[in-house]
Amino acid sequence: MRPSLKVSLPAHEAAIGKFLTQSGTFKDGDLLVNKDGLRIVSQSEEDEPSLIKPSDNQLSLADLDAIKVIGKGSGGIVQLVRHKWTGQFFALKVIQLNIEESIRRQIAQELKISLSTQCSYIVVCYQSFYDNGLISIVLEYMDGGSLADFLKNVKTIPEEYLAAICKQVLKGLIYLHHEKHIIHRDLKPSNILINHRGEVKISDFGVSAIIASSSGQRDTFTGTFNYMSPERITGAKHGYISDIWSLGLVMLECATGQFPYPPRESFYELLEAVVEQPSPSAPSDQFSEEFCSFISACVQKKATDRKSAQVLLKHPFLSMYDDLNIDLASYFTTAGAPLATF
Ligand code: ATP
Ligand code: MG
Repeated sequence: MRPSLKVSLPAHEAAIGKFLTQSGTFKDGDLLVNKDGLRIVSQSEEDEPSLIKPSDNQLSLADLDAIKVIGKGSGGIVQLVRHKWTGQFFALKVIQLNIEESIRRQIAQELKISLSTQCSYIVVCYQSFYDNGLISIVLEYMDGGSLADFLKNVKTIPEEYLAAICKQVLKGLIYLHHEKHIIHRDLKPSNILINHRGEVKISDFGVSAIIASSSGQRDTFTGTFNYMSPERITGAKHGYISDIWSLGLVMLECATGQFPYPPRESFYELLEAVVEQPSPSAPSDQFSEEFCSFISACVQKKATDRKSAQVLLKHPFLSMYDDLNIDLASYFTTAGAPLATF
């Protein structure tokens, strides 16, 4: 049986009054919280407020109030929404899908996997709905937006911060690769999200890549292909290690402020550059030896020459700034501009 619950701050009592029993305690199952003040805490875990969890299975679209549009992707829009009863914020991603039944089934499968992932380095996917060609996904709201948004403000990210960011991304990848046995397939700056607590989380594995590759618009959607490894972009067999290539390109872009390959006219020109040209590298006169070596370990053209996420986590680049005790929370909230989407 769940422990009985009590309200630690009495604000908003009217709104939740219907959940209260006469004694002021909550009935079993009424596990709700208002992020802005009202906290319903379990008596056994006083300082651990309980938020809606993916497993609660209690979200419905009708209970979410739209606040504003916070982003647009190739497949649809992302809105900031607030849960009517609890005040909790979420990001609601709505994707328009004009696709065949088989792909829809594949997406449903991927979404099921997303719902089952529980890792501090992966954006929580709370629930998804499908209705009349529209897929709505309720996601954990990351108030700093994406690394792509952040990079637009700060232009480049210094190595010491990049090491702290990269550590979290690698932990997310280790979880996906080694625990869930999933290839992300679409790792790029806009799918790495940040928040005011200094957390960095991976989002959108599987789903967006399926949509992109089934859209039949390769030429116009090169954005989605930019971070693809040589084996993946040529349509050859690819595995987890394909994500490591993407990670290398993302880190290099964050460090230099530029996508490592010059702009290309079409998907085929990009493909040619990725396959024919030597791998991009970090200029050794601007970056530490450790950083250059880390990038090189990621962007090996031959997949078997690349290091796994687990091995990379031990790379010297990731520990060389440990003494600085980097505070990503203050970096994200003060560097460049206010948080992207708050
Ligand atoms: P593409 O559709 O090509 O993959 P994308 O990743 O930018 O591009 P979306 O995943 O739809 O497209 O996201 C669009 C933008 O919405 C992101 O760049 C980010 O700014 C914002 N966003 C997405 N998810 C969240 C979230 N969970 N919390 C906060 N902001 C988010
Ligand atoms: Mg995305």
